[in-house]
Amino acid sequence: MKIGALRGTAGALTLTALLTTLLTTLLTTACTTDRNVDPGTASPASAVPASGTITSGLSAGTAAASRVAGLPASAVRVVKVVKVAARARPVDCRRAKCVALTFDDGPGAYTDALLRHLAAYRAKATFFVVGQNVAANPGIVRRTYAAGHEIGSHTWSHPDLTKLPAAGVRAQLARTDRVVKAAIGVVPRLVRPPYGAVNAAVSRLTGRPMVLWSVDTLDWRHRDSAKVARKAVRSVRPGSVILFHDIHPSTVRAMPRILKALSKRGYRFVTVTRLFNGHPPRTVYSAGLT
Ligand SMILES: [Zn+2]
Repeated sequence: MKIGALRGTAGALTLTALLTTLLTTLLTTACTTDRNVDPGTASPASAVPASGTITSGLSAGTAAASRVAGLPASAVRVVKVVKVAARARPVDCRRAKCVALTFDDGPGAYTDALLRHLAAYRAKATFFVVGQNVAANPGIVRRTYAAGHEIGSHTWSHPDLTKLPAAGVRAQLARTDRVVKAAIGVVPRLVRPPYGAVNAAVSRLTGRPMVLWSVDTLDWRHRDSAKVARKAVRSVRPGSVILFHDIHPSTVRAMPRILKALSKRGYRFVTVTRLFNGHPPRTVYSAGLT
């Protein structure tokens, strides 16, 4: 018994020393990373993976060590500090040239391909999902959200909300909220009314920012990658909200061209909420559509 206890103590001491060294190294690395992050060029995605992976592994290790060796709680706090330090600052769209790419009517068969295109450019986008499609493909929505994109509601079955009674509007939103929450743990904070159809009653019943768009690529009509890309690239301005539909393969195929062209012009691809620095107005682009 005694020997076993001694062995345990020695093991714990070694583990404590090892963890202290690791934490010091990590903290130094994280601070260096943070200094090197240029808020003008880095995106959260560029800083998180490297440190994030190490941190989560160490977090579990630290928790175990706390139990075994009575490692002070301060060590656990250090890990939390490392996590915060490793995260790059969000884009400030008051200074940067930002554009919000938005995708309606999914998730669908091409959404995963789209996620890969966006990831290649570290682009963040907003997906206005149809509730019944979420119910059929919750995994895609989970992957979309996990990749840092924003999930908005596009109602349950895509009706014109201005033609529904109040109870119908509420049901369309509530059902979608439930299924999105089941998939990603939170309800959508933004709503895009189908067909952009909105009136005062719908806006009041929604109780959330209604997000329309400033550039309509008409991708659903043309189904032509070159046309979609041309329209998006020619019409974009800083602060644009561009409308796409990720249920069309032609739209998804157009994305690398759009991402490349707009990146070259210095655009940052952000979610709608980030475009308004965390506080989207009650109505986004209700007038002056192009
Ligand atoms: Zn739609």
